[in-house]
Amino acid sequence: MLPDIENLLRLQEADKEIRRLQDEIAEFPKRVAIIEQKLAGTKAQLEKAQGAIKADEAARRKYDTAISDLRGKISKYRDQSLDVKTNEQYKALLHEIQFTEKEIAATEDKILELMVNADSRDKEVKAAQAELKAETAEIEKEKEEARRRTAEDEKLLAELRAKRDQIRTGVDEDLLRQYERVAKFRGSGISEVRDHKCMACQVMLRPQTYNEVRSGNNTVVCDSCQRVLYFNPADELVDQKPSTTRPKRHRPKIDAPQAWYYRADFGETGEVFLCLTNAASQASRRVYEIHTGRLIGDILIREGDYRQAFPEDITGAMRLNGAWTEAELDAWGSELPMVVLDSLQFDLDAARHEAASGSHTKPTVPITPTEQAAS
Ligand SMILES: [Zn+2]
Repeated sequence: MLPDIENLLRLQEADKEIRRLQDEIAEFPKRVAIIEQKLAGTKAQLEKAQGAIKADEAARRKYDTAISDLRGKISKYRDQSLDVKTNEQYKALLHEIQFTEKEIAATEDKILELMVNADSRDKEVKAAQAELKAETAEIEKEKEEARRRTAEDEKLLAELRAKRDQIRTGVDEDLLRQYERVAKFRGSGISEVRDHKCMACQVMLRPQTYNEVRSGNNTVVCDSCQRVLYFNPADELVDQKPSTTRPKRHRPKIDAPQAWYYRADFGETGEVFLCLTNAASQASRRVYEIHTGRLIGDILIREGDYRQAFPEDITGAMRLNGAWTEAELDAWGSELPMVVLDSLQFDLDAARHEAASGSHTKPTVPITPTEQAAS
């Protein structure tokens, strides 16, 4: 692996950790704020309960005054009753006294109600006070914890930033710019290549790009996501485990209605993929350039089965795996999609490998590790 790539990977590691710490530091005040909000709610509740008690006390004083006023009224009526001359007057006074007594009873009922309420009001205040005390303690603890953790994180951050700066000096300037530009927009600036794919954006690489990354001679950037690409042989080895039995390549079906071929010598174009299909009683032929997937010339239609219709194309060509519907072929238009092109390239590679290892003459014998290593 190139030292630049190794440094970028270390840089990415440091960047990730820096981001994590920054997120963590930003998280502490949020947690404190949530408890503070709860605390404010409890405080408001307490104030409301205390306010209610005060209002009740004021009401109580008002009622007490009212009762003593009413009692004064009654004694005045009684005094007056001593001086009345007529029975009518006496009756009227008696009526006033009864009415005032009723008023006193009603006011006493209200006082009783206040006394009953006072009990639950008291409980409300006590509960809010207890809650407030607990929350205040919690918030102090949380603040203390946040202070401690923030200080720790800040210390780590400073160390990481210093380490990061030191790593940066070890990377080629242009490459570093590329990495940081992409990392800024995509969150990461470097991606592993595995199984012919950029693992970050999952797009298949062109064979040339793949080989370039694999060789590790110079740095390559993903065409699709612009991340710097690297190849880790240790990971690929794991991936390739199933393909130690590489001759497992599927055999193209002899009688398939669609057949793909590779030709190395097609006119001026040279290397091409041919797609021959049978439909009704006609055969069609499409020719694609193997590196770009570009359709070469027109689609040729002839009468009969493709074997009879295009014998000159088939003779000496390498049969490949591939089966797509007529609708798909039409939809592709003048260029093979990347996935199709890659699949054909891959199969061509496998077919060549197969031919070179001679396994096509003895398909049941798996390749021994020494042969595999030599190839
Ligand atoms: Zn990519």
